[in-house]
Formats: sequence, C-alpha cells, structure tokens
Amino acid sequence: MAAGACACPGTTPFVHEAGPAVDSGPGALARLGDHVLDVHRADRSGGAVVVTDAGLRATGIVDEALAVLAAAGCPTVVVDDVPGNPTVASVEAGAKVVAHAFPGSRPVIVALGGGSALDAAKGIARLAADPSGPGLPLIAVPTTAGTGAETNGFGVLEDPARRCKVYCGDTTTTPRVALLDPLLTHGLPAGPTAATGVDALVHAVESLVSRGRSPVSEAFAAEALRRAWRWLPAACADGGDARARAEMLVAAHLAGQALTRSGLGLVHGLGHAITAHHGVVHGRALAAVLPEVVAFSLGEAPDAWARVTEVLGLPRPTALPGALADWCAAVGVVPGLDAAGLGIGPREVEALAGTAVADPVSRNAPRAGAREDLVGLVTRSLR
Ligand SMILES: [Zn+2]
Repeated sequence: MAAGACACPGTTPFVHEAGPAVDSGPGALARLGDHVLDVHRADRSGGAVVVTDAGLRATGIVDEALAVLAAAGCPTVVVDDVPGNPTVASVEAGAKVVAHAFPGSRPVIVALGGGSALDAAKGIARLAADPSGPGLPLIAVPTTAGTGAETNGFGVLEDPARRCKVYCGDTTTTPRVALLDPLLTHGLPAGPTAATGVDALVHAVESLVSRGRSPVSEAFAAEALRRAWRWLPAACADGGDARARAEMLVAAHLAGQALTRSGLGLVHGLGHAITAHHGVVHGRALAAVLPEVVAFSLGEAPDAWARVTEVLGLPRPTALPGALADWCAAVGVVPGLDAAGLGIGPREVEALAGTAVADPVSRNAPRAGAREDLVGLVTRSLR
C-alpha cells in the first residue's frame, strides 16, 4: 500500500496499523490466564511476571490477578516496587528479577496498574529480552482511566543522574492484549480519577488538532472526547457509578489509540515542563495551562477546532477555553498555575517556557509558538 499515492484533495495520506487486541468489560480480569496461555502457545514460552506498584498490591487487585494466573497453572513472579515516576534503575532491577526467575526463556510481562507500572513494564520487557530480537511479550491491564499507555509499546522513564526523561520500548513491546476491566478502577479516589480523566480528555483534544492527525486518529479522538466530556464528571461524583467507570476506561483507551497515531501538542509540552520543574501530577499540570494554550492556538487549524467545538456541543470555537476551564474546575482540577497551588510565580516562567519549547511534542501542536510566545502564555496562566 503506497500511503502517498492518493492525491485526493483534503484527505491526509495515512497508513493504519492495528494495535493490541482488546478484551473489555466488567470482570475481564478473570480471562487474564487465558490470554497469557494463548501467548505461551503462540511463542512456545512459559511463565509470567506481574509488574505493578506497592499501592496496588495493598488494594488486593494484584492478589486477584495472581489467583487467576495460578488457576491457569502459570508460574508467576511479581515486581511490585515500581516508583510513581519509574526510573531507569527500577527497570534494570526488574529485568534482573526476570532473568533470575526465568533464565533463558521469554515469560509474559503482565503490566498491571496506572501509567507508571505500564511504562516500567515496557522497559523491563525490552531490557530483559535479547537486544537483537523482539521484546518480551506484554499484556497490559490498566487500573486507571487516563494514560492510554496500553495502546503502544513506548514508555517514559526518569534518569535522575542526567536529570532528564528517557524513552524506552519499541514497537515489539506493544501489548499483545489490552485487558480493560472497569471494576479495577472503582476503588480509585476522586482526586486521581479526575487528574487521570483530564489527561484522557487532553489526549483527545490535542490529537484532534495535532499536525499528525489522520482520518483514523480523528475517529478515535472524537469518540474519546465525547465520552470523557460526558462521563468524567459522573465518575468523579460517584466512584461506584459502573456506567461512568466503564465509559471512562473506554474513553481513555480510545484517546490512547488516537495519540499513538497522531502525537500530542503544546499542552503536553508545557505540562511535561511543569512536572519536571515542580513535581506536579501530570493531569493537574495539563489543566493548569489548557485554557490558555487553546486560546493561543485557535487561529491555526480552524477546521480541527471546529470539530472539537462540534463534539462538545458548543456554539463557536471561541467558547472552548472557558468551557474547558469550567469542566476541569467542576471535577476539581482547577486550571491556572496559582489555582493548582503549585507555588509557581513570575520567576519560574522563563525556565518553563525554555523547557517546553525544547520538547519535541510541542512542535506537533497546530501553533507551536516561539519561546517569547510561551513566556506570555505561561504568564497568562499565572492565576
Ligand atoms: Zn498525557
């Protein structure tokens, strides 16, 4: 298929590659053992390594997964010390556990948790495998409705020694299966539910307007946006609302499918900078600058902004910054750098703008902006 051969006006040439198989629904975790055994049969391998974090272990979800794997007769070890922001060192330690438990073989890596556990699992799946061949097979089981990390093979790690983020994984660490069980998200408190849900909504918005968008990414992003906008407030108001939890897990997954194809934009460029400099939770860092970035960007890609406006049922694109700010505030993720209680003042603006302009993700935005533009934008977000 020659992606560039068609010159139909108005249609972006694109290639669509399928992502992981998806098994979605309440109670899907019960089928984890079947999926692991399927991979074993396909790969002539054995064993499983559950990569998760200590917080999740305390909830009983890890024990539930281990019981399912035991019932399937699958020998399993657990790596449960993934930090909130996984580091290169934590991935190296995890890879050693795999090598020790399953010397010379290719166990299935079961990534169980939020974005951090999934990122670390991809790093371990890559590092524990022969570097000249594919990464270890991976099955992803997200327990938050946010990052969409189950849709692709790439993760982000911290390298404290070099004080920077490093990317890990490759296309071979794309999960074989994304297991979406909304029951696993019911126990998540309102604060993290809101912050991760805002992340999913921003993925959808940035994907819809990104320079890398295609008809396929637009289809995923528009449906993700519609669901997240409708259902996050309900999931935050009542964590036991089964419909809202299920809709949000699907929304986050569709947004992940979208961003994996299109890339993100300036909200993430600035959000990464805010998190790197001030240690702020990802979703809160995004909300802090979202309305101002949208206001700054509306003049570029008007058709794409019209689509966002239409999905949200708003009268005109200029209504977007205010409507997005109100929506974030309603779920408790208040926009503005001051409102987020981050202690960020005028003296921090230059450094944030410098870091954001250097982040490649910013250049995928409809309007990337020069450093001076971002200084102005961050200054306007200081309230
Ligand atoms: Zn994000």
